[in-house]
Amino acid sequence: MPCAGRYPLGKAHMPAAKRHSNDKLKLVAVASIGVAVAVLSLKVLAYWRTGSVALYSDALESVVNLITALVALYTIHVASQPADGRHQFGHHKAEYFSAVIEGVLIIVAALLILREAYDAYVSPRALSNLNEGLGFNIAAMLVNGFWCAFLIGWGRRHRSPALVGEGWHLLTDVVTSVGVVVGLVLAAVTGWGVLDPALAAVVAVNILWSGVRLMRESVGGLMDEAVTAEIERQIREVIASNAAGAIEAHDVKTRTAGRVTFIEFHLVVPATMTVAASHDICDRLETALTEAVQGAEVLIHVEPEGEAKQTGVPVV
Ligand code: ZN
Ligand code: ZN
Repeated sequence: MPCAGRYPLGKAHMPAAKRHSNDKLKLVAVASIGVAVAVLSLKVLAYWRTGSVALYSDALESVVNLITALVALYTIHVASQPADGRHQFGHHKAEYFSAVIEGVLIIVAALLILREAYDAYVSPRALSNLNEGLGFNIAAMLVNGFWCAFLIGWGRRHRSPALVGEGWHLLTDVVTSVGVVVGLVLAAVTGWGVLDPALAAVVAVNILWSGVRLMRESVGGLMDEAVTAEIERQIREVIASNAAGAIEAHDVKTRTAGRVTFIEFHLVVPATMTVAASHDICDRLETALTEAVQGAEVLIHVEPEGEAKQTGVPVV
């Protein structure tokens, strides 16, 4: 019986369900590009009609969104490629690059906005057609709000850091749009022109913060972070209750790469057990772990008794 959870022989050996999920992931990424283009057009229109720096900052953020949606599409494509000779553990980490690139772009956009806000602060500009501009921006905000809620929920269910990262970024975009609209209304009512560059500066700082957070999360993934304590407890329970015939398991290690969780451990069996019998236990464990942990890829090292450690997972 083949070991569960590994598809080293190419796409033909990948279960249909996994292929299907990748196709849906690509479809969502393509739709993201359509949404980004629509939102960007609305915001550019809003900026172009009013000349507001705050609306400029909002539009620039959408340029970042469009570029990162394109990068996300490409990295999801790369990440979904089956393992090959040069990448024998798969291409899952490609998605983290998308998140890192997005983080860098966000920081660049924030700096561009700060420069523009400073210019407008030094030499104030008169805002024109404010109602029309705000109308375009509110429309863009609604489209974005709907799409980011969808991306975060869907990306989490399918464990795609690229889509979740994009969703969170869009959420900051929606929040800043709300702030910009409210602030510009206030500026129009009170006549305080300085509110426009001040808002843009607040938007820039907010964007900067989201970029830093996104990069920190992606670096965690690139650094082979372990699963959460909750999932680790679950893994230990599954091992303990599916290894009848073995003595104990120890050195349980996990690392996550995109939608895949690599799990490895040592399994101690009686020294006289046949290779076939211990392999049966391994197959059982692999199946149980693959069912319990989404995207699990399991590797088990079998040892004869005498290697047992006091700290191991006792088999019940
Ligand atoms: Zn096997
Ligand atoms: Zn060992």
